[in-house]
Amino acid sequence: MIWDIVVFALQSVLVFIVSTALFDALHWTLHKWEGSCFKLLRTFSSWHWVHHKFLGLDMQINPAYAKQNIWFHILPEYLTGMAGTLIFSVVFPGHLSPRSRPSAPSCW
Ligand SMILES: [Zn+2]
Repeated sequence: MIWDIVVFALQSVLVFIVSTALFDALHWTLHKWEGSCFKLLRTFSSWHWVHHKFLGLDMQINPAYAKQNIWFHILPEYLTGMAGTLIFSVVFPGHLSPRSRPSAPSCW
């Protein structure tokens, strides 16, 4: 039982660290793609810039970009998060399952 909690905690810390690093790397890549030779990569970068237009460096929201932000930032971010979750569920099978959680009832 205690070993399950330790393993779960270590897996959670690892997932958090790797996810944060991947997020930063993807964010940096989206900015680098702004000057790419490939139109598709510039398109992905322009989608990201919608978010920066919506939420400026001064942390003020620009309502004019609210709808665009949903389609060009929130939706791709959600799908990327789901893909990451799928990858981690393959790396740590059962980690996301209620049965693997230490506090889960045994009758599940
Ligand atoms: Zn950015």
